[in-house]
Amino acid sequence: MPTLPDAIEALRLELTELLGERGVSADLRTRERASVDEALMSPILVEQLPLGLADLVAYPGSAEQIAAVLAAATRHGVPVTTRGKGTGNYGQGIPLDGGLVLDTSRARAVVEVGDGWITAEAGAPMILTEQAANAAGQQLWMYPSTAQSTIGGFLSGGSGGTGTIVHGSNWEGFVTALDVALPAAEPTIVHVEGEEAQTFVHTYGTAGVIVRATVGLEPLQDWRAVYAAFETFEGAQAALRALYGMSPQPRLVSADLPFISAKLPDDPAIVKGASSLRAILDAATLDEASVIISANGGRVTDVREGAAQTVKVSMLSYNHPIWWLKKNSPDKVYFHVEVAGEALIDRIDEVHAVYPGGMLHIEAGHRFPIGMLAAEYTGADDVYAGYPKLQELGVRVHSPHQYYVDHGVEELTALKERTDPDGLLNPGHLGAPAGLLTGGLGK
Ligand SMILES: Cc1cc2nc3c(=O)[nH]c(=O)nc-3n(C[C@H](O)[C@H](O)[C@H](O)COP(=O)(O)OP(=O)(O)OC[C@H]3O[C@@H](n4cnc5c(N)ncnc54)[C@H](O)[C@@H]3O)c2cc1C
Repeated sequence: MPTLPDAIEALRLELTELLGERGVSADLRTRERASVDEALMSPILVEQLPLGLADLVAYPGSAEQIAAVLAAATRHGVPVTTRGKGTGNYGQGIPLDGGLVLDTSRARAVVEVGDGWITAEAGAPMILTEQAANAAGQQLWMYPSTAQSTIGGFLSGGSGGTGTIVHGSNWEGFVTALDVALPAAEPTIVHVEGEEAQTFVHTYGTAGVIVRATVGLEPLQDWRAVYAAFETFEGAQAALRALYGMSPQPRLVSADLPFISAKLPDDPAIVKGASSLRAILDAATLDEASVIISANGGRVTDVREGAAQTVKVSMLSYNHPIWWLKKNSPDKVYFHVEVAGEALIDRIDEVHAVYPGGMLHIEAGHRFPIGMLAAEYTGADDVYAGYPKLQELGVRVHSPHQYYVDHGVEELTALKERTDPDGLLNPGHLGAPAGLLTGGLGK
């Protein structure tokens, strides 16, 4: 339901008073930019855009201002879609009912680093929290390949990344406490810990707005960025599986077919015509890793030291190789499906054959390998027709072509009844039409 123009104008005036002229915008281009995310990675979603247009965008500069903005919107009955960096790749951040986009990116303070934990405001980039942890001799349990994305956005819209091999998904104990703003006439922040905090994770901002988060740290390890080239993808996959089994475990291992490898940014360590493997390995395992790589028909092309180098490897993992495939293939339209399971390695030929020209990007996951299966786009029905075929092969499928919360839905619905009874928070993203969801990969 569109909000009445009077309510929007009244909210704009109130927010201008609260945040100043630069803290709120009704400019059309600004609103358009704030109304789409990386849903652009899905040709199916692209066909449906624009799916919503914000009436206003607000930029609070602190956790307390986020709560004040939410309270103002609540008083005027205006829906609120929270936004971090806008890198969500399912359209989770699209304001389907218009209203206010609450951009948290200016509320970016790292509040405190303790022994085994860090507290930061919602808009703090993950890379900033990792740097703060490193300065204290620690490291984040995990961060996504979109290292510039915000901690609030990663916890609300993401699932894992560098560190997932050891720690699993971001709803598996990574979060120890949250301060969550709730819609109420007066600014309201509740503090939740442990299990209660987990229930807000990966809920697309539909049950509350995270204003501060406390997440897990561990002692800093001596990491190396390792690049290797293989004649065959099968060799790279076998090496990925063996590297996963080393102790200490890697922080990340990614591998690509020669075709996708060639689409990655130019780097002498990513050899054209070869299958590229990239990993973040503990320095103590380098000799063992080198033996594994040679034994599977590969060769180490470089070993690099320093946080900037390991982050660079992170930024070529998860959705990024597919992002580069799409970016560097202007004459083609590709889609991808998120997949997981041992079948990605054991039955790779059958997995590839599900879609004509199918190409897998693979990661070593927590309990099983995970990846993105890409192919040329020939229509939504062809994409959906592949899901049951993949499932028959024992592959878990997650569809990145829909913008509904698809894990813990029952629990979330019960939570939302308490925290957002008027349905003001990111409306339209909970309650998918029957049959649309394929479930989360990590479950
Ligand atoms: C190329 C590419 C690579 C990616 N790699 C990874 C990866 O490795 N791992 C991974 O998990 N994801 C990945 N993603 C998805 C996405 O980048 C992550 O989920 C990211 O961490 C989202 O953060 P953001 O700040 O951009 O959030 P946004 O995209 O702005 O928001 C994401 C969702 O969270 C909600 N939200 C944002 N902030 C808050 C808040 N403070 N409180 C409540 N709700 C909020 C939004 O409404 C939206 O529903 C990738 C995406 C792309 C395009």
